[in-house]
Amino acid sequence: MNRVNAKEICAHNGVVIGKNFNMATRNKATHTYWANPSIACLQQDWWLLLHDDRKNELHVFMIPSNSISTSAVKIRSDVSKPNHIRIEIRYDDNSFEDTKSKIEFLPWHIKTLRLSYAEMLNEIVAEETKEYKNDYKTAKMLSNKDLESKVTEKYSINKDKKTTRQSTYIRNAYISEYAKRLADGVCQLCGNPAPFNNADNEPYLEIHHIEWLSRGGLDIIDNVTALCPNCHRKMHILDNKDDIDYLIEIPKKLCN
Ligand SMILES: [Zn+2]
Ligand SMILES: [Zn+2]
Repeated sequence: MNRVNAKEICAHNGVVIGKNFNMATRNKATHTYWANPSIACLQQDWWLLLHDDRKNELHVFMIPSNSISTSAVKIRSDVSKPNHIRIEIRYDDNSFEDTKSKIEFLPWHIKTLRLSYAEMLNEIVAEETKEYKNDYKTAKMLSNKDLESKVTEKYSINKDKKTTRQSTYIRNAYISEYAKRLADGVCQLCGNPAPFNNADNEPYLEIHHIEWLSRGGLDIIDNVTALCPNCHRKMHILDNKDDIDYLIEIPKKLCN
């Protein structure tokens, strides 16, 4: 995640970040969030974002101008970064203490965001392997009856989580096709037709896992639904229980 993403995620969650902000990701060597803002940061309202990529959380702080004096912080000694300070906050430290200055950032903590938005992007862009593409071609040719037997046959498998820098989730093409046939070009949440057709001239809907893959949800018929992009985003941003209950209740059976 970069600074722009982080700022956007905050905005989506109702937290407006000012221009004067820094983001620190986990530094695996020091086991700290390592930030190197310029000294000038301290003289204005300053936002500090700490990105925890294990827990998928973003800790947001707003430090009002002149709350921290320059004499209290550790100034970097290297010439490449003059007039910069060095902040190292240990992970999982509830007081968010900077190990360099011993200043606790907890009093300035505004919010911790769950990165559902980032997760969503990650879940939408599920890995499309060669196998998936081939299966998908086959799936499209099958009769409803044959497709149904395919998805029940594969019922118990396919939670193959592949770890790259971020986690991506490989899916079963038959399950996707089945969910799309059930939806028949109509979003399962708002009931509106798909907003546009894809390059193959099919209604564009996205497969959503009611219990998210990233939360351990399974790639099985009972757990998938086809949504328009707006509703898909809504599911991940609001995570609204009524919507979840509604989607769970939709019958998952094709007419043969
Ligand atoms: Zn919709
Ligand atoms: Zn989803």
